Amino acid sequence: PYSVEGSRCIIGASIGVAIAPFDGQSSEDLVRNADLALYAAKGNGRGRFRFYSSDLHQSAEDRRALEEDLRDALARGQMELTYQPVVNAKSNMVTGVEALLRWNHPERGLVGPDEFIPVAERSGLIVPIGYWVIEQACKRLQESAEMGFPGLVFAVNLSFRQFHDRNAQRCLRELNQLGISFALDDFGTGFSSLSNLQHLPISLVKIDKSFVQELGNSADAEHIIRAIISLAHSLQISVVAEGVETEGQLEFLRQQHCDEIQGYYYARPMPWADLVQFLNKRGQAACLQQ
Ligand code: C2E
Ligand code: CA
Repeated sequence: PYSVEGSRCIIGASIGVAIAPFDGQSSEDLVRNADLALYAAKGNGRGRFRFYSSDLHQSAEDRRALEEDLRDALARGQMELTYQPVVNAKSNMVTGVEALLRWNHPERGLVGPDEFIPVAERSGLIVPIGYWVIEQACKRLQESAEMGFPGLVFAVNLSFRQFHDRNAQRCLRELNQLGISFALDDFGTGFSSLSNLQHLPISLVKIDKSFVQELGNSADAEHIIRAIISLAHSLQISVVAEGVETEGQLEFLRQQHCDEIQGYYYARPMPWADLVQFLNKRGQAACLQQ
């Protein structure tokens, strides 16, 4: 407390945080985004802090409208999964797919998950949507086995919010015993930290695409990727690199013994029918059955 002209003054602080280079490349961008985060922190009450995230750009009004529409999206059949192949770096075979959610909004057109997942998380709608994703992916998994692609690994994305208030650690272990394995996404950034590797039954880490895309521009990216791969392998954890777009990135990752590759270099996320065609073209059916 300060004493100002005889009266006691208690000063608090609200903090907005923006981190380079993810939240902005220039000082102006960083300060503007930190400011947006600051306003959001103040909106949550006094004396809070808040990290910047891209969804802060949406006005509160816009967000409310999006949330309204999101409530009916499942029932109206507006949700759709796309599938992106994951390729084994040694054998060059497609070993799995990642299911990525899309929202066909009647007026806005295709809305990307970066825009609506944060809204779904905040409103709790991620829970029913998440169940739908799992159910849909399981159906496709069965279909793929029947079509002659047994052993294809299906990955779905889960938000921590989807574990409710249950003990996520125990929940993961129980699912693990059913033959479901877990990958830690966006490894090396934000909330995806080393301590997770120690406490959760993680069998795969995904190197965030921000590192892969810096390959060739920054020696740091090379060092970081090398370190992630060697750390993971020493813990018997596999590594997949996401966001691989070029031959050069692929070559570097192969040299470093990265296990799996995902990215536009091989294929973009695509509708189910296109994925089946993609697998057939690569002559995957026969090989996977061996
Ligand atoms: P993520 O799990 O990190 O997914 C990878 C993102 O990178 C996808 O974006 C994918 O389309 C994109 N990508 C793949 N290869 C390349 C590449 O070579 N270059 C570039 N520039 N990008 C590439 P998408 O589909 O927009 O998904 C964004 C995020 O939304 C996902 O990030 C994931 O965190 C979240 N998400 C998607 N579907 C679901 C879902 O069903 N449930 C939950 N909870 N989150 C989801
Ligand atoms: Ca993912």
